[in-house]
Amino acid sequence: MKEGIHPKYETVTVTCACGNTFETRSTASEIRVEICSKCHPFFTGQQRAQQARGRIEQFNKRYGKKA
Ligand SMILES: [Zn+2]
Repeated sequence: MKEGIHPKYETVTVTCACGNTFETRSTASEIRVEICSKCHPFFTGQQRAQQARGRIEQFNKRYGKKA
């Protein structure tokens, strides 16, 4: 067995932009993410609302008011 070729995995705290933190194992000492399982639309169920908003914006862009 060669030593020093394997990264050292440690338990690190991942901090999300939403304030949620959770632990994972990684070679990094600190991880910051912008989205996690707590705030990801897939998990929060907000995906539909976001898609609907996107459609409205698309509509406004296409047929939008030209004051
Ligand atoms: Zn989050």
